[in-house]
Amino acid sequence: MSSGASATARAVDRIDTGPRFSEADAVRLNRLYRGSDTREMLAGVLKDRVAGDVAVVSSFGAESAVLLHLIASVDPTTPVLFLETGKHFPETLAYRDLLIERLGLNVINLTPDAELLAKRDESGLRWSYDPDGCCDICKVQPLAKAMVALDATITGRKGFQSATRAGLPRFEIDKTDSQGRLKINPLADWNSEIVAAYFAEHDLPAHPLVAEGYPSIGCSPCTSKVAPGEDPRSGRWRGWEKTECGIHVPGQPDGTSELPPGFDPVF
Ligand code: SF4
Repeated sequence: MSSGASATARAVDRIDTGPRFSEADAVRLNRLYRGSDTREMLAGVLKDRVAGDVAVVSSFGAESAVLLHLIASVDPTTPVLFLETGKHFPETLAYRDLLIERLGLNVINLTPDAELLAKRDESGLRWSYDPDGCCDICKVQPLAKAMVALDATITGRKGFQSATRAGLPRFEIDKTDSQGRLKINPLADWNSEIVAAYFAEHDLPAHPLVAEGYPSIGCSPCTSKVAPGEDPRSGRWRGWEKTECGIHVPGQPDGTSELPPGFDPVF
C-alpha cells in the first residue's frame, strides 16, 4: 500500500474527540448577539441552531416561568430537562405540571440511577451529611448522561442573582467537562424589575413558595427562607459552604465534581 493510501485510510478512520466549541466561539456568539433582544437571540439558538442541539435545564423555581415562556414562544418542542431528585417540594412539582399545561412544554424528567441511589443513599439522608455527594447522584450524574446528545444547554441564570453570578455572559463554555459545550444564559442581563414586568405582562403564575419567603427554590431539605435584604440564594444549603449543586462547575482532576466553595454555579 502506498503511503498516500494509508494516509487516506487514517483520515477516514479518525474520530473527532475535540471540544465542540472554543472560547473564541463563545466570544464570537456574544458579539453576534450584542444588542439583540432575548427573543431574537433565542431564535438564533433554537431555529438557526447556532449552538447545535440544545436543551433547557430548568428547576421550575421562582423565576423559571419567564425563560420557559420565552422558549415556548420561539420553539415549544425544545427539550426542557428537569432534575427529578425525588426531594422537591410538592409545590414545585405542581408548578412544573401547571407550566407544562399552560405553556405546552416538552419536559423530560431526569431521575437518579436506582442502583446507585440504593447503594450510596439507602436512607435517603445523604443530603444531611454529604450534600455534594447527594447532588452528584441526583443531579450531576443524571444530567451528564442526558448531555451526551447535546451541544449546549440553556440556563435561567441571571447576573443579578448573587455576587458569584455578576458579569455573566450570554454564551460561555461549559467547563464541567472537556466536551466544550456551550452554556447559554439568555437572561444574563435581566434584573428583578424586568423579570417582574415580564411576569405581569404575560400573566405568568408565580411559584407558590415565593409568597412564603423563598426567592430561590431547590430541593426541600436544602432550601430555607430568606430574610428581607439577604442574598436571594442565601437560603440554599444554609450552614454549608456549598453555593451550587455542581452541574455548572469544572470537574476535579480525579474526575469528581466536588465544588470549590463559592464557585459560580447552577440553579
Ligand atoms: S439540593 Fe440537597 S437534596 Fe437536592 S440533590 Fe442536592 S443535596 Fe440532595
